[in-house]
Amino acid sequence: MEEKKLTLADIPAKGKCVITRIHGHGGLRYRIMEMGFVKGKTVEVVKNAPLMDPIEYIVMGSHVSLRRSEAEKIEVVSVSDAASIEDEYNGTIVEENISLKNKQLSDEIKESRNTITVALVGNPNCGKTSFFNFATGLHEKVGNYGGVTVDIKSGKFYHNGYTIELIDLPGTYSINEYSPEELCVREYLTKNDYDIVLNIVDASNLERNLYLTTQLIDMNVNIIMALNMYDEMTAKGDKFDYKKMSNMLGFPIIPTTASRGIGIKDVLQAVIDLFESHQNLTRHIHINYGNDIEDAIVPIKKLIENNKDIINTYPSRYIAINALENTQSTIDEISSLPNGAEILALTKEKREKLESAYTEKMDSLISNARYGFIRGALKETYTPGEKGNTWVAYKADKILTNKWLGFPILFVFMWLMFEVTFDLGAYPQDWLDQLVGWIGETVSNAMPEGILHDLIVDGIIGGVGAVISFLPNILILFLFISIMEDTGYMARAAFMMDKLFHKFGLHGRSFIPYIMGFGCGVPAIMATRTLENKKDRLATILTIPFMSCSARLPVYLLFVGTFFSKGQGLILFSIYAIGVLTAVLTVMLLTKTTFKNTSEDFVMELPPYRIPTGRNVLMHMWEKSSQYLRKMGTVILAASIIIWALEYFPTDSETEQRLAQEIAQVEQNDQLSEDEITYTVDSLTHAMNAAHFENCYIGRFGKFIEPAVRPCGFDWRMGVSLCTGIAAKEVVVSTLGVLYQTEDPEDEDITDDNPKSLSNKLQAQLWDDGPLAGKPVYTPLVAYGFMIFVLLSVPCFAALAAIKREAGWKWTGFTVLYTTFLAWLAALLIYQIGMLF
Ligand code: GDP
Ligand code: MG
Repeated sequence: MEEKKLTLADIPAKGKCVITRIHGHGGLRYRIMEMGFVKGKTVEVVKNAPLMDPIEYIVMGSHVSLRRSEAEKIEVVSVSDAASIEDEYNGTIVEENISLKNKQLSDEIKESRNTITVALVGNPNCGKTSFFNFATGLHEKVGNYGGVTVDIKSGKFYHNGYTIELIDLPGTYSINEYSPEELCVREYLTKNDYDIVLNIVDASNLERNLYLTTQLIDMNVNIIMALNMYDEMTAKGDKFDYKKMSNMLGFPIIPTTASRGIGIKDVLQAVIDLFESHQNLTRHIHINYGNDIEDAIVPIKKLIENNKDIINTYPSRYIAINALENTQSTIDEISSLPNGAEILALTKEKREKLESAYTEKMDSLISNARYGFIRGALKETYTPGEKGNTWVAYKADKILTNKWLGFPILFVFMWLMFEVTFDLGAYPQDWLDQLVGWIGETVSNAMPEGILHDLIVDGIIGGVGAVISFLPNILILFLFISIMEDTGYMARAAFMMDKLFHKFGLHGRSFIPYIMGFGCGVPAIMATRTLENKKDRLATILTIPFMSCSARLPVYLLFVGTFFSKGQGLILFSIYAIGVLTAVLTVMLLTKTTFKNTSEDFVMELPPYRIPTGRNVLMHMWEKSSQYLRKMGTVILAASIIIWALEYFPTDSETEQRLAQEIAQVEQNDQLSEDEITYTVDSLTHAMNAAHFENCYIGRFGKFIEPAVRPCGFDWRMGVSLCTGIAAKEVVVSTLGVLYQTEDPEDEDITDDNPKSLSNKLQAQLWDDGPLAGKPVYTPLVAYGFMIFVLLSVPCFAALAAIKREAGWKWTGFTVLYTTFLAWLAALLIYQIGMLF
């Protein structure tokens, strides 16, 4: 029924034409328009060889080239070379020399350009045909049962200077391909050119009707929603904040009563406004399918994007979702692509992995996620009236997201999570600690003295060992986070946080990355991908480092355990709280200045509650922890070796050699008693080690930066450990372990891989110069300032790399400077003000 329209690809070289409309879906359309191909512009073809890509054009005075497949999406009217035309429709003027030569041509352009094709999509019996009849003045048969409209009807009419062509599609509950109606709608929406989809929904049965809408959103079409049967909804006493819903979904929603013709003019006006892009309501949103499904979508989508032709027709995300759902026509289409086999293999793998993890079929996983989206959207906007209620909510939601109970429950849960992580985790942590100590000793005894011995025992076992014992705490933390995610509780927490977060200029969805940030910043930063608003995302990414990650925990445990005998839990809590507070203040600062609030609402999904399968929880826990283990084997190992080497070399300073000779002499001296020998050797060894520290590379570096950290009450070793902490925060502890190792030979049982004894070392440290000479380096005040420094200071390399990947160099640079300055300032204030008392 469609006659072939002239497109830009058909215009031969040297030809001129005027653009009448742009087809294709959102992304492509946007790209084309960005290049200057907009309605009413004149385009000159420079080069166009048949079947050859790309084609070269002059538009708006500059040369651009388009792929043939893209040019085919641009509908045009040809202009004979000499003719110039006037763009009358908007009163604006085409950039060419104007003189109206060809009236007929001008009319043709106008006619073609001012025709808007609108596809009516909706459930059976939602009132499509009523709408169609009222708008077109035709008299289609209106029936009170599904399936009356089996084939496609179209009708044209004029409205406010536009020709509107309505396409009445069969009613369907979804756009899969289980029935002829569904297939018909799917075919139409994917294969035909239309401008706008008018989604008619039955307002008295929103939950079911919106399912189809979620599929339209995935298709990334231009949507306008007619909230039909509005009369019935108000009669039932339901309250529906459709303006808020419209804001959340990113398209206009207009109440109508189609059977009586109410609201139809408003819908038509919205159609014209959207067509002319006059209104600013339209924004493309994504249905969030939850981390696991989203993680499957991304790589499939990447592979699909290699095929320019197909993604010019449908959005790659839509194809990926359909492929996961195993939609036959999508599978067929993919298999004809050059890399089709690869895409299908990957899809199959991902599908099977998800199905076995959830013990649920893929299509039900996806439809559950869609209903989760709908439930979340309705929960915020819809209150059922007294008479009759179609709204099905989970009973558990009545308690868990209750106005009064929700927050206390969440708070108790969070408290439990930290409590178990720290208290219960302390036991296995102790065992691991002892194991590492035993390994160190065994290896040390088994190996001959020498540089290799020192490297393995002091460098590797000392450094990595200081960190590995915290693995149980981290596993427990990740276990909790996985359980929260898998049961669906995390989504409820995010839902409740939404209002609170809005006050800071953020969105509730940021809650999940923040909670993950307590585990590790890297997956947390990656989890911000579910935030669609760029500013929300940036603000979240930049503040996640203030959520004290589990790698910082070893530092706190060491310092709190050593310097605070009372109220340890409270001290620890205060550190986490300061982190959160800093994040809040930073977000407010950013949203007040750089990221001005755009006041967009988002749907907070409420996915179904699930009893988590043990396998799935373990899998998630493992995914997160393996990252940590990998870090142990790479960054922490490398850092330990480097720090060891910087501390070990150079070995041949003059003082050191002189002292070594003296020690040898004393040991040979038979005039001294056994005790005297031991005593002298010990103090000489001490002096030798001290000399070595002064001279080794890391000692020199430490001395160099000491002036910067001294005002905070830190000595050079602390300064060094703060610097090495950039490799990974656990390295702060392992650095202290390496730096304080051999200085006090009197204390026999001190091994650097045991933080408990490292804690003795810390307590024994005295200042050897400056106004505080002879006084202990570490006081509770210094320890607290140090912990706050570690909390606020620049995140580790892995997190910086994640920030760079998600936000770019500029913001990575900002993070480095901002956090370093903030940490230094906070430690300075704590120390200087504390010293006044
Ligand atoms: P279709 O299946 O989507 O084409 O829906 P129809 O247009 O055939 O309408 C189904 C039934 O709903 C008919 O009986 C209409 O009269 C009725 N109807 C349509 N719109 C409205 C409305 O806004 N309010 C009320 N109360 N009834 C409506
Ligand atoms: Mg009908």
